[in-house]
Amino acid sequence: MIIVSACLADVHCRYDGGGKPCDKVMRLLSEGKAIPVCPEQLGGLSTPRLPAEQIGNKVFRNDGVDVTAEFNRGAQEALKIARLIEAKTAILKARSPSCGSGKIYDGSFTDSLVDGNGVFAGLCKKEGIEVKTEEEI
Ligand code: SF4
Repeated sequence: MIIVSACLADVHCRYDGGGKPCDKVMRLLSEGKAIPVCPEQLGGLSTPRLPAEQIGNKVFRNDGVDVTAEFNRGAQEALKIARLIEAKTAILKARSPSCGSGKIYDGSFTDSLVDGNGVFAGLCKKEGIEVKTEEEI
């Protein structure tokens, strides 16, 4: 089984209240091969919500509020689901502060990227789950 970012399945869980449908991910779901999760909602954050970006090990909203605890809690809850379905692979939304893999926004809210992983993507990698973005499948 594959764990996927819920927004790639057109669940309207993004900070702006929208989804980011990805045809390949939607196909995996309709074939019963994938389960969607949104770590940020699982962490108790509302939708819509203010955008957030990582700085080091912390995550801040664009009004300066520290939402690290919610991001960490959501990543742990999403990992719980990934373990329940024995996921070996995750397909996660590129560049997100939770789901991004390899490249994330740099914390300046200027669309600038740095090397790094979103909180959930990093946790998946640490747990031995292979992470790909929707742009890599
Ligand atoms: Fe999509 Fe992940 Fe952001 Fe949820 S946390 S909206 S699944 S990118």
